[in-house]
Amino acid sequence: MLKGKTALVTGSTSGIGLGIAMRLAAQGANIMLNGFGDHAGPKAQVEALGVKVGYHGADMSKPADIEAMVRAAEAEFGAVDILVNNAGIQHVALVEDFPPEKWDAIIAINLSSAFHTTRHALPGMKQRNWGRIINVASTHGLVASAQKSAYVASKHGILGFTKALALETATTGVTANAICPGWVLTPLVQKQIDDRASREGISVDEAKRDLLGEKQPSLQFTTPEQLGDLAVFMCSAAADNLRGAAINVDGGWVAQ
Ligand code: NAD
Repeated sequence: MLKGKTALVTGSTSGIGLGIAMRLAAQGANIMLNGFGDHAGPKAQVEALGVKVGYHGADMSKPADIEAMVRAAEAEFGAVDILVNNAGIQHVALVEDFPPEKWDAIIAINLSSAFHTTRHALPGMKQRNWGRIINVASTHGLVASAQKSAYVASKHGILGFTKALALETATTGVTANAICPGWVLTPLVQKQIDDRASREGISVDEAKRDLLGEKQPSLQFTTPEQLGDLAVFMCSAAADNLRGAAINVDGGWVAQ
């Protein structure tokens, strides 16, 4: 379905971004990976699906890096047709204890980076009259949790950005939508589970159960592959008129 298209997925060396990259690649899209840590392993995993794969190590907190990454993707593959703004970080603390530099980093990586990738990729999409911008927000774009002020602000912000972008592109072949996952068992969440286990003197399994029980009625983690399949749907013709939507995949979290 996506043969001949190119997807740039930020933060795709791990977790949800890698899951989305794999599912888009399974549909034939060439992939530009991005993110920190080992990239050779993820690159080989995606290449095994028979598509062309590039990697750019841009730091999503740096606008100049972001422009270089979009230009590199266009140079290597000819276009960026699908942009998945996924890179994100978390920090947990009360507002009065929240390190200002952490606030700035979270807003830059989780929110402003999507503005920068989009402003560089959008002109080409508009010119070709086809494009998909998929922002990985969170249930925390719809509701809040204590001690996550920067994250909640960044995720509410990216839903606002998605809606404004959807209006600006409404009469074109470019769509903008958001995915709002609840708990997904990735390194970002594993850290919160480990912190909880050591803080409360309980096992990691108990901490996992408590974490799910608190927020996610299904008591099941959503998987990166399930989110990847939703991204594939958003890239399909069936979603040509899906615009400015925020779809929560959260085991019932925001239904409460
Ligand atoms: P993860 O930690 O597994 O992956 C994050 C990715 O972003 C990694 O590839 C990392 O290298 C990259 N990254 C971090 N900082 C970066 C930077 N400055 N520049 C470039 N890349 C950077 O986390 P994840 O859980 O897969 O999270 C992916 C997205 O999904 C985030 O936006 C997160 O907020 C969102 N999300 C996650 C969950 C969850 O339960 N895991 C729930 C809702 C939303």
